[in-house]
Amino acid sequence: MAGGTIALQVKDIHKTFGRLEVLKGISLTARDGDVISILGSSGSGKSTFLRCINLLEAPDRGEISLRGQDLALRPDRGGGLTARDARQLAAFRARIGFVFQSFNLWPHLTILENVMEAPVHVKGLPKAQAREKAMALLAKVGIAEKRDHYPAHLSGGQQQRAAIARALAMEPEVILFDEPTSALDPELVAEVLGVIRALAEEGRTMLIVTHEMTFARDVSSEVVFLHQGHIEEQGPPAQMFSQPRSDRVRQFLTNHL
Ligand code: ADP
Ligand code: MG
Repeated sequence: MAGGTIALQVKDIHKTFGRLEVLKGISLTARDGDVISILGSSGSGKSTFLRCINLLEAPDRGEISLRGQDLALRPDRGGGLTARDARQLAAFRARIGFVFQSFNLWPHLTILENVMEAPVHVKGLPKAQAREKAMALLAKVGIAEKRDHYPAHLSGGQQQRAAIARALAMEPEVILFDEPTSALDPELVAEVLGVIRALAEEGRTMLIVTHEMTFARDVSSEVVFLHQGHIEEQGPPAQMFSQPRSDRVRQFLTNHL
């Protein structure tokens, strides 16, 4: 949605692991309702970029702000984040949803308990309220009847839908998806993409790392192509998919479409 309020702004993020510079200065702006697909070969830094936004990794430098509020990253010498205690960090992180490739549900909690967990323990929502909300979200992603099952008893597609419900339960301002369908059997991919597509239609602001090119082309407002830690090309999907400027992007799309 061009011209909307800026939900997430990332400026000049750098990240090095040992001697490997994985992110070489990445900047990105997501406005309300933007769906930004992030493409790129394996090892290009896509996961690290998402993990830095959510502070699962501490960026070496750069700025991250949510609705104009700077997260004030001040890495210390050990690579940790100073200037903020764990509680503040948790508060910022709670504003950004994260959906992992491998679902990462709590195995010892039922689906319903998984979705209630953060609202109760991070936000302090009363249990009855969290439960009601979790039930509504499980219905929304189409797995209401699985609420009392444990994750291991669900298919991958159902587990990922539960993970999406869990992210939504925190009412995040932005949701990050890291290859949400890559771990799924092919016949389960569509049900998860359908849920994400519905979220896009609701106007959710999302960053999605994906290898599902048709989905990226149809659902994104913008596509970003990462190569070796920098943005090789970015633009509207219609342009990127039909007339990429970069030969590298053209080659990638030829191989993946
Ligand atoms: P992508 O998600 O695009 O496949 P990643 O962000 O996972 O790429 O990884 C980018 C590069 O950073 C890879 O070379 C990977 O091996 C390296 N890397 C990622 N995480 C770590 C880590 N915690 N420690 C060391 N190297 C890492
Ligand atoms: Mg990755």
